[in-house]
Amino acid sequence: MSKKRDNERLTCSFCHRTTDEVDSLVAGQNAFICDQCIADAYIMLNDSEKVSSRSKRRAPRKKKNRRRPLLPKKIKAELDKYVIGQEYAKKSLAVAVYNHYKRVDAEQFVTDYKDVEIEKSNILLLGSSGTGKTLLARTLARILDVPFSISDATSLTEAGYVGEDVETILSNLLSAAEFEVGDAERGIIFIDEIDKISRKSHNASITRDVSGEGVQQALLKVMEGTIAGVPPKGGRKHPEQSLINIDTSGILFICGGAFEGLSEIIARRLNVNQIGFASTPERRYDESDTSILQFVEPEDLMQYGLIPELIGRLPLAAALEPLRDEEMMRILTEPKNAVIRQYQKMFAMDGVDLVFDESALRSIVKRAHKLGTGARGLRSVLEQAMLDIMFEIHSVKDVGLCLITEETITLGKPPVYEKRKASA
Ligand code: ADP
Repeated sequence: MSKKRDNERLTCSFCHRTTDEVDSLVAGQNAFICDQCIADAYIMLNDSEKVSSRSKRRAPRKKKNRRRPLLPKKIKAELDKYVIGQEYAKKSLAVAVYNHYKRVDAEQFVTDYKDVEIEKSNILLLGSSGTGKTLLARTLARILDVPFSISDATSLTEAGYVGEDVETILSNLLSAAEFEVGDAERGIIFIDEIDKISRKSHNASITRDVSGEGVQQALLKVMEGTIAGVPPKGGRKHPEQSLINIDTSGILFICGGAFEGLSEIIARRLNVNQIGFASTPERRYDESDTSILQFVEPEDLMQYGLIPELIGRLPLAAALEPLRDEEMMRILTEPKNAVIRQYQKMFAMDGVDLVFDESALRSIVKRAHKLGTGARGLRSVLEQAMLDIMFEIHSVKDVGLCLITEETITLGKPPVYEKRKASA
């Protein structure tokens, strides 16, 4: 058997490079092969035109040209097309993302400041459910044309316990990047429900806090930048498995959470102690101030149960505002893929113009508010209201226009149908 283990470090059986020297090492039964040898072998095969159609299909894609990062104003303008309101969050994200990709892609072009290392700055989005946290992260990835994946913090456990390893979040990104390691290494990972892995209490517990602090510690490592060995299919790592090495230093982590109860912690601090609240020291929290989350300080998050090291890795915290009626109205109709537009497109495919009158839209918003799931409720209300109509519409003769009124939404009355105009 070839010398594949060198002092217990895995090496490529062909070129004897160690795991540190290669991006990934694939394990066979008694041998290992590194990505570089695979690439060399591929070229050899290609030259002799022996590449099967299957492997040709899976040939490495051409590396995307690294462009200059989009400027913050351009990023914000693109976000505006999809995300309504949330001005502060959009602005902070635009600047943070611009800086991130400058660090990843453009640092090499700066000759001065050689000894200055720009630290990685991940982002924390706070705000109640359905206010646009995931939408913001997803839209950013689309604008920047980088791989994007969403993982739920509550599914993770620290190594050795039942549940998913933290590396699974990297596997998800890798598969979103179609297993192009280089692309994955500059992708965006959204970790949802980060608030649910807070330490349960400040008192040291006798039982281990499997889902809380241990996961935070594990996340810390991948978030700050490390070379992680990732099982390509996710799940638990096991010794015989081939691992793909991913450098996480260029991956942008956006964490999101509703942080229920955090407002009270911030309010208490603002009323009791105004140190560290330098911008408007005279301002006091009052009940009508719905956006108190924007005054969050690291000490509040610590009190909430995040460990200081993790907070340190999330230097930018942007709060999302609860959505007001006017914004909900705009969400219904304005964004490129607004839910009303989606229905209109579906009706248009059947040759019907779908129209909502203003009072119908207002009652959809009112109902959605009652559900307490933010803008997510808009779709549920609409789906419920449109079900019967979509079921019945084909029985209405020659329908050319379908007008949804307030009564259709509130009382379930049929919409107003108009006949298709006879073509001249
Ligand atoms: P969460 O804050 O819980 O992550 P999401 O971003 O998943 O919420 O939002 C759920 C859905 O609600 C989105 O798919 C989107 O259609 C809509 N939505 C929420 N907030 C906004 C917003 N600010 N602008 C436009 N649509 C929004």
